[in-house]
Amino acid sequence: MSALLQVNDLKKHFPVRGGLFSRTTNWVYAVDGVSFEVERGETLSLVGESGCGKSTVGRAILRLFDITAGQVVLDGQRIDDLSPGALRSMRRRVQVVFQDPFSSLNPRMRVRDILAEPIRNFGLAKSSAELEARVAALMDTVRLPHDALNRRPHEFSGGQRQRIGIARALAAEPELIVCDEAVSALDVSVKAQIINLLQDLQQEFGLALLFISHDLAIVEHMTRRVAVMYLGKIVEMAPRRQIFTAPKHPYTKALLSAVPLPEPGADRNPIILKGDVPSPINPPSGCRFHTRCPFVFARCRTEEPMLRSAGDGEWVACHLESLPEVPGPLGDPRVR
Ligand code: SF4
Ligand code: MG
Repeated sequence: MSALLQVNDLKKHFPVRGGLFSRTTNWVYAVDGVSFEVERGETLSLVGESGCGKSTVGRAILRLFDITAGQVVLDGQRIDDLSPGALRSMRRRVQVVFQDPFSSLNPRMRVRDILAEPIRNFGLAKSSAELEARVAALMDTVRLPHDALNRRPHEFSGGQRQRIGIARALAAEPELIVCDEAVSALDVSVKAQIINLLQDLQQEFGLALLFISHDLAIVEHMTRRVAVMYLGKIVEMAPRRQIFTAPKHPYTKALLSAVPLPEPGADRNPIILKGDVPSPINPPSGCRFHTRCPFVFARCRTEEPMLRSAGDGEWVACHLESLPEVPGPLGDPRVR
């Protein structure tokens, strides 16, 4: 059986004006050739610093805009080129939970109406009694009391609002939920509750999750596989255990070295990266990470490393990974 979601060489480039009085148009290469799959019922996490393009990937899958190139395939059907009419059923199957439920929930609507809207829109209830029953069941599912149905979003805490956001996503009976920094704005203890809830719901409904986050400590608890993005590209993708115990890409190593270890007193060897993330308007030549990579060598500046299989479900885009283990006659090319 094919994967639930296949993303093939996805590109999204945005035009930006060169300057206030400039007539030139620059392009932001927000997502620049990203491929991955999500199986039914699994969690794939997309991680990376802000601006790496992970949210843009999520929005492209949700068809919130047209993509520049590539394919998004849901259950064997391309959805990147669907007409607005044909998009309807796809929209039911792929839902989203955003970071800030306060701005994504209509403040004037009562919770009852927020949850009833998708049920009505997708024709999922045959009578008003069934609609009411479904709304009540959603409240049970996300563990909120029924008397909350008559209240409005501002009357709830951040964690409760996120439960409402999750209930609204579930109302459409989706197969995939894109969680875009869905717990990032919450306090630590509330974060854990929402993560537990998402995991329970995933089990109960066989949901696939695309979990977009910059927070590796959360991702470690959440996911089966991880894809690490840098400047619009996936640089490493692997099962969770490999990423967290034996990362291969220098950028993944640096990201992980910044995550505190749970044991008191334990310390990692931090890898401090030089400089800031370069602009996606004019990304570096060759390997996009070469301006900051502690292991950079000549080839990295001119030749782009492709995402290659490293066995065991691991994929890495780094010239170090494609080099022979034994240094050639000219010595170890890894040395600058
Ligand atoms: Fe570093 Fe070169 Fe690998 Fe890029 S290709 S991550 S610059 S070693
Ligand atoms: Mg984002």
